[in-house]
Amino acid sequence: MLRLVDIAKSFGTRVVLRPMSMEIPAGKTTALLGPSGCGKSTLLRVVAGLIPPDQGQVFFDGEVVTQQNVQKLRQKMGFVLQDGGLFPHLTALGNAGLLARHLGWEVSRVNARVEELADLTRLPHDVLNRFPHQMSGGQRQRVGIMRALMLDPEVMLLDEPMGALDPLVRYDLQNDLKEIFCSLQKTVLLVTHDLGEADFLGDDVVLLKDGRIVQQGALEDLGNRPSDPFVTDFIRAQRIPNFGSN
Ligand code: ADP
Ligand code: MG
Repeated sequence: MLRLVDIAKSFGTRVVLRPMSMEIPAGKTTALLGPSGCGKSTLLRVVAGLIPPDQGQVFFDGEVVTQQNVQKLRQKMGFVLQDGGLFPHLTALGNAGLLARHLGWEVSRVNARVEELADLTRLPHDVLNRFPHQMSGGQRQRVGIMRALMLDPEVMLLDEPMGALDPLVRYDLQNDLKEIFCSLQKTVLLVTHDLGEADFLGDDVVLLKDGRIVQQGALEDLGNRPSDPFVTDFIRAQRIPNFGSN
């Protein structure tokens, strides 16, 4: 579905992604893990065609992404940001339906699709007429997810979509996202720095460090067969509470 071949990216003298290749299998969720600043968001933006790589290619369904086809291909990718990335002057309905309206959909069709997505993401319908500042953090993320799903993209790219949510809200949204991804069979690339989230939502994980892939595979393999001491350090750094043995 998505294939990266020899992708590299620098900003000025700052090397952010070193030449890397990876495959993101269709219909599965790949979790992109790594410490802050290791290049996760940059990689996601390269995949989405939002920034061009300095070298290498991104293949989408076997087709190389170019300046000529990037606009068309981007409609097949839904992008969700950490803070939802909603326009403050638009309601939930306005935000979720923005792209479809731009493409000339009729109002009734936009509204019907938004209502369908509100059900799917479990957003109460009365929230559809609210502005972002009138919504909770969890509701804003649900609207961000609706917006990304609006055109029924083949691929979903999510950049720490739950990073700013409190644990209870995050827990609910993780459950809902898992159900959505499974039922719709989307190809998903999810950036997170939370191992539990990567384990729960991801079929496979890719661990980055300093713009390099350190290890890719099942999370279990990273735990049991780490390719580098950094893998063990990264896993160990995520404490789980110890409630005693009885
Ligand atoms: P992550 O998402 O893993 O925290 P990012 O991909 O956001 O990391 O950033 C990786 C590095 O690239 C950081 O050091 C960041 O400051 C730098 N960076 C990201 N975008 C830009 C940009 N547009 N211009 C300059 N430096 C950038
Ligand atoms: Mg980031």
